[in-house]
Amino acid sequence: MKKILITGGAGFIGSHVVRLFVTKYSDYQIYNLDALTYAGNLENLVDIENAPNYTFLKGDITDESFISNLFEKYQFDGVIHLAAESHVDRSIEDPMAFVKTNVIGTVNLLNAARKLWAKNTEGKRFYHISTDEVYGSLGAEGLFTETTSYDPNSPYSASKASSDHFVRAYGETYGLPYVLTNCSNNYGPNHFPEKLIPLFINNIITNKALPVYGDGNYTRDWLFVVDHARAIDLVFHEGINQETYNIGGFNEWKNIDLVQLLCSIMDDKLERVAGESAKLITYVKDRPGHDLRYAIDANKINATLGWKPSVTFEQGLEITVNWYLNNTDWLHNVTTGEYATYYKKQYLK
Ligand code: NAD
Repeated sequence: MKKILITGGAGFIGSHVVRLFVTKYSDYQIYNLDALTYAGNLENLVDIENAPNYTFLKGDITDESFISNLFEKYQFDGVIHLAAESHVDRSIEDPMAFVKTNVIGTVNLLNAARKLWAKNTEGKRFYHISTDEVYGSLGAEGLFTETTSYDPNSPYSASKASSDHFVRAYGETYGLPYVLTNCSNNYGPNHFPEKLIPLFINNIITNKALPVYGDGNYTRDWLFVVDHARAIDLVFHEGINQETYNIGGFNEWKNIDLVQLLCSIMDDKLERVAGESAKLITYVKDRPGHDLRYAIDANKINATLGWKPSVTFEQGLEITVNWYLNNTDWLHNVTTGEYATYYKKQYLK
């Protein structure tokens, strides 16, 4: 039986990865390590929490001795590392939290894996999940490829870039078997509503302003989270050691166009007059260091591993919007408490 450690498995993408691995690989033991920060939520996993091949471990990846003892105790064969501080706006307020979790936490995991697998790396793999934001900003043309130079502009992307460099360095210096993926913006069920799509769905439901940064022309590539989880499964099992793969949805949208699309979907769902939700759009002061455009060339993973998205953006958004409309308790639980204070500070100042 393979023992796989998934970090950050109570978060947005991590919970979809945990579900996929627990249900698909009954011969694996899946350990979900998560500190349950504001972004971690075990409600995301209630459907699989009693599965015999699933274990939840509460803990912090920044705690060096805890991590070292954990690897010693469970003797993991593989690590899929998603735990991170993940929100750009929060990184602008508190960069050190991002250095601690994203850089120091990652190095703690690398050290523990390196020590555990020192004598034999056969069948072992450290999989680091990263973002396209490490590449910086594109102009109107071009795509990020796996060989694009790193050029991070936010404390979040700088911390992720740093962790990517450490992963590569451990591969080169110590021969640690790793794979690394850089993915574009995800969307889907269980996404914490501080991020654009769930924030706007929630604000349309509750008739709150839809804060659009700058002129709304910022452009992002969007990928349905279940398709990201499918890519992670594929790269974990069939990717080549010491290789990087870009993952993207071939699906670029200007923020303002995406918001307009969401407004019209929500008008239909909520049986509002056409154009009603769009009245909530409010332009707000730009985010400092805001990258104009991200776009991914996902041809390597497509050509070498045969991965491509399984749903269109329209299908993915339909699933996502329905999920939020059917899970108002989940939404209520995560938007009260600490989040309410954050929201007030961020958007109502
Ligand atoms: P998320 O914020 O929803 O989840 C992060 C999880 O990590 C949470 O469950 C949190 O409790 C946990 N965590 C945070 N600090 C921890 C610590 N010190 N120790 C243990 N657990 C800790 O993030 P997400 O959007 O699911 O992103 C997951 C990973 O994917 C991140 O590494 C992120 O950089 C990367 N990524 C995200 C996107 C995206 O669009 N969301 C795109 C590309 C890459």
